[in-house]
Amino acid sequence: MADLGSQYLRIRDAVEPLVLEVLASGRYILGEHVQRLEDEVAQACNARFAIGVSSGTDALKIALRAVGIHPGDEVITTPFTFVSTAEVIVQLGATPVFVDIDPETYNIDPHWVEAAITPRTRAILPVSLYGQSAEMRTLRQIADRYGLWLIEDAAQAIGARHHEQPIGAFAHAATLSFFPTKNIGAAGDAGMIITNDEQIAYKARSLRVHGMNGGYYYEDIGYTARLDELQAVILRVKMRCLHDWTERRRYHATLYRTLLANAPLQLPVVRPYNYHVYHQFTVRTTQRDALREYLREHGIESAVYYPLPLHLQPAYRFLGYCEGDCPHAERAAQEVLSLPIHSELTEDQIAQVAHSVLEFAQREA
Ligand SMILES: *Cc1c(COP(=O)(O)O)cnc(C)c1O
Repeated sequence: MADLGSQYLRIRDAVEPLVLEVLASGRYILGEHVQRLEDEVAQACNARFAIGVSSGTDALKIALRAVGIHPGDEVITTPFTFVSTAEVIVQLGATPVFVDIDPETYNIDPHWVEAAITPRTRAILPVSLYGQSAEMRTLRQIADRYGLWLIEDAAQAIGARHHEQPIGAFAHAATLSFFPTKNIGAAGDAGMIITNDEQIAYKARSLRVHGMNGGYYYEDIGYTARLDELQAVILRVKMRCLHDWTERRRYHATLYRTLLANAPLQLPVVRPYNYHVYHQFTVRTTQRDALREYLREHGIESAVYYPLPLHLQPAYRFLGYCEGDCPHAERAAQEVLSLPIHSELTEDQIAQVAHSVLEFAQREA
């Protein structure tokens, strides 16, 4: 599903001297490379500000804090996502309100978002899942109409576009993760907040260093959530590959679409106004578990993102959701399967995966 060793070999000559330079510099936390990376990511996302932090999860938590989410607030989000999205809401003492997804794109359905708004709602937190933007333009209209914050979890979507605009363009702030297996990944944990709002940027910069502003003067109760120079220098090299690596993923998606055109599977549905960056190539079938096992027997990895929606997870039971509350998310959890798509794969490997999928389908027929 990822081949970080091969990826590293491709960029090793560029990365190693820079890493050694950082080690010799004695400057390890925040610093020049973090600042430059922030500028480069801001430019790539056409955003005014970017704030490097220690993970995608911390980026979410700090973004929510920066817009003033407090205990007792409600934040509307999707149950079909990585756990961080809801975890940070609970950690701030707020309540995640889960609404169902669009069964074609797996992203939160704006129709249900609007229906879930109450006087306690303060923010909407959509996820641009698998590398395709959520319905950000429509969600921004809803957020503006009700005076809500819109924060985009773009952990899986760096480089994606929606109505010609980069991630974050329709949100008050967007968050990125540089977890090693993300489209751009660090050699450890790292994340970023991007925003056009000066006030949010100021708050986020302070919250990542304990709420400090100026030497040992604290305006907020903050966090230890800084980005370090070693990660930043590695990420700067990888950011230069963003376009090529994204195009490579998109090319692999095109190959799958051709090879699997007649397979009895639902292929990813891409809205015409979205540029999908294929963090995952996720197909859908009622035979999901059998297909996955067949692929495994033939030496092919695949993955299920995500096998149980968050509203049904044991840790979130206290919120009081039951089976049937988000039926599209629940069905997707039983039927989705992500095939290998990363940029290090060869055409032959993609063809092998497709061949095994087709073989499985013939066997079943
Ligand atoms: C990876 C991911 C996160 C968390 O990022 P970390 O850097 O691992 O903390 C949050 N949301 C989504 C949708 C993710 O895929």
